[in-house]
Amino acid sequence: MSANSRKRPWLAAILSTLAAGLGHLYLRRWRRALGWILLVIAATYLVGPETLTAYQAGNANIWDIAPILTTTAGAAFDAYVVARVENLKLRTKRDKTDWATCPNCRKDIDPSLDFCQWCAADFSTPEDDANVDSGQ
Ligand SMILES: [Zn+2]
Repeated sequence: MSANSRKRPWLAAILSTLAAGLGHLYLRRWRRALGWILLVIAATYLVGPETLTAYQAGNANIWDIAPILTTTAGAAFDAYVVARVENLKLRTKRDKTDWATCPNCRKDIDPSLDFCQWCAADFSTPEDDANVDSGQ
């Protein structure tokens, strides 16, 4: 798993739900992972061990452990968003490197065109053609 590979946002969210910080470790966001781990530990201290034990025994309301639940949900949501943003950045970077020069003649090209203005090489993707064919 390299730093340039696409991340799975849902996997990051599920990992963070299992254990806060795990999703961020998967995303290689070490400091963010540590931050969320510390937040969940803080929330657990806030709730207190007596309340946790009481909840596990069925003697406490779910609202009594709400700080832990909301922090865990926050970590999962944050992991999901971070994964989505990283994928977007990666796609933008790839688009730029793909379209900076013509693969045919190696000259600089206009990214808004789907052909090379120097050698007329066609860059339209098969998806573009499929959309035209289906009348979209
Ligand atoms: Zn060209």
